[in-house]
Parts: sequence; C-alpha cells; structure tokens
Amino acid sequence: MRFIDEYLKDIKDRGLYREFKFFSGPQSKYISIRDRKVLLMASNNYLDLCNDDRLKEAAEAAIRTYGVGSGGSRLTTGSYELHDQLEKKIADFKNTEAAILFNTGYMANIGTITAIADKEWTLFSDALNHASIIDGCRLSGAKIVVYKHCDMEDLQKKIKAYEGNKRLIVTDGVFSMDGDIAPLDKIIALAKENNILTMVDDAHGTGVLGDNGTGCVEYFNFKEQVDIQVGTLSKALASEGGFVVGSKSLVTYLRHKARSFIYSTALSPATIAVSLCSLDIVKNEKNKRIRLLENAQWFQGELRKLGFRVLESNTAIIPLIIGSAEKATKLSEKLFKKGIFITAIRPPTVPEDTSRLRITLMATHSREELKHVLDSLKEAGMELGII
Ligand code: PMP
Repeated sequence: MRFIDEYLKDIKDRGLYREFKFFSGPQSKYISIRDRKVLLMASNNYLDLCNDDRLKEAAEAAIRTYGVGSGGSRLTTGSYELHDQLEKKIADFKNTEAAILFNTGYMANIGTITAIADKEWTLFSDALNHASIIDGCRLSGAKIVVYKHCDMEDLQKKIKAYEGNKRLIVTDGVFSMDGDIAPLDKIIALAKENNILTMVDDAHGTGVLGDNGTGCVEYFNFKEQVDIQVGTLSKALASEGGFVVGSKSLVTYLRHKARSFIYSTALSPATIAVSLCSLDIVKNEKNKRIRLLENAQWFQGELRKLGFRVLESNTAIIPLIIGSAEKATKLSEKLFKKGIFITAIRPPTVPEDTSRLRITLMATHSREELKHVLDSLKEAGMELGII
C-alpha cells in the first residue's frame, strides 16, 4: 500500500522512525539487550520492583492456585476473589470509598471519560495531558476545551467562557513527559467555585508521591476532594492494570457504563497477585521513594551544572530537552554505545522541537552509577554540540 510506504519514508527522513529494543532478561536497573548489559535510565519501574522475588513468588503462588488465564470479562466469567481483594486494597490505599480495576491505565481513562461525558458536556483538558485522556475526550463526543499547560489564568478564562452544568476538568497528576505536578490545589479551588467535576490521572504519582506513597492527592494533603482519580499498577507498582477510585456510586456506575471495562477479558490472577503484594511493599518501604526523589533532585541539579536544559521536576521524571528529533536520537544512540539506555522521546509524543531524553530514575540507582551517567552525558553532549 503506497500511503503506508510514503508515511514510513517520511518519518524515517524526519528522524521519527521507531524501533523496538528487545530485552533478553528481567527488568531491573541493568537489563540485557543482545547479550549486552546496559544501565536502564528510562523506565517507569521507579521502585525497581519488576524483578523482586516477593512479587515473583506471589505470581507463582497465584498461578498454582488459580491457573493462568482469567477466562472472561469481569461481568461474565472473569471475576476472581483476588480482583475483589485488590479493588478493596486500592480503595483503602487511596483512602476512597471504592475502586474498580481496568486492564490498563489507558483503558481506565478512555472508559471513564466516555462513560461520563457525551455531547452535552464540556471537558477542560490540560494541553499536555496523556494520550489516553485526549482519546477519551475525543471518543466521548463532548466539547473539548484545552487550557495551556498548568496555566490557571487560562483555565479560569475558559471556565468563564464555557458555562454549563455538565463540566469536568481533567488533568494528569504528574505529567508523563515533563515530570511536573499539576497545581491540584488551584484546580480544585476553581472547580469548587464553579461547580465543576474533577478527574486526575495519577499514573506517575502512585507509589512515588506523598508520605504514604499514595500519589499527588496526598502530596497536596487533599482528602476526597477529587471526584475521580485514575491510576495505574504498571509503573511504580511493577505490575499491570489501571484503576479508578472514588465514591461507591461512581464505581458502580462505571461497572455498568465503562465499555473498556465491560468488553475486555479481566486481568489474570498472577497479575492481580503481584499488585496485591506490591501495594504492601509500597506501604512498608518508604525508604525506597525517599531515596528515589532525593536522587532525582540531585541528578537534575548536576545536569543543569553541566549546561543541559532540564525541566523543573519534583518527581522521578527528568526531561532533558534537546529540541531536534534527530539530535535527541543521536544522543540516545551515543549513550547506548556507552552502555546506558535512555529513550529519545519525539513528536507526536511531545510537541515539535521539544524532543528530549526522558530520564527516569529508580530507587536502586547508586550515586556512582548516576555519576557515570553524568560523565557519559557530558562527553556525548559535547560531541554533539548540545552543551
Ligand atoms: N496515564 C498516564 C499519565 C501515563 O503516563 C500512562 C502510561 N504511559 C497511562 C495513563 C497509561 O497507563 P497504562 O500503561 O497502564 O496503560
């Protein structure tokens, strides 16, 4: 098909062609790619739990007891006691009335937004929201009003311009490619003042932010002030699956209305068992996230000292902005040759001319390893004229 060939040639010419890097072993801070051991600096496995023995044992035990496949969607033949336990545990962890599991965070966002909004609704959406929020908004058929990234003046202006009683503000809690935290205190104040519902996707805050690691709502010291909270078990919690937490009635409503929940096979028992176990680890091992966030602060400061352009971040995500997609790819390749894996993030994932290395830290990275990364980045950055 010619249009496909033309498209592929075009993205190759523009440095936007994407390829897989296949891992031949478990994911930890070191991974094996084609028999090479490389230091991973780009994973969402923030607490380095993907290869944790406790989680692997939990999965094995669940497989022995329940088998492997779940056999059906949740409302037909795919609900196990484990699903019930996990939903209760997540609600408890997030300090909300109830929780509902989805197969991914992506499905949680599209399922929830489309269950709530239709063409009578107005959705106020941050310009840098995750693709799954954008897709959910589009699929819903609602009026979408995009406000400038974290810009409360712009949001306020737009709220005034679009009156109505069916309105929702939807935002990432932690922005996945920028690492900054949404100003939830101000967003919630505006929402309350104007009688608007709020929805926060805390995929990257869950397990990382807040005294108990429950995410950005705790980080801001809010309780039950966000109407709909989305999260994922696939990042700090080292498992798979998305979830929504909120009131009992919200959760019951989603069980009946969210199509990505209703029409998809339930998560397998092993996956659920891993999530149950990793929630305990997050609760009990606070030292992991303290170290993670301390390292992230230190590391981004050192990058700036070297002359790199780094966005301000209070999370484990450190965006090193390069600009051109080609240069970002070259920097990533040079680092890979030096045994360091950091993916180049390019359009359409990020806006044109803001291609970047999205560096993410893990709780287990040592200062020595991070210093080695800084030395390598300095060398490669100078070779490419970035610094
Ligand atoms: N929301 C945000 C902010 C994300 O970054 C991601 C993952 N990239 C998702 C949702 C989707 O989560 P999942 O990977 O579990 O589908």
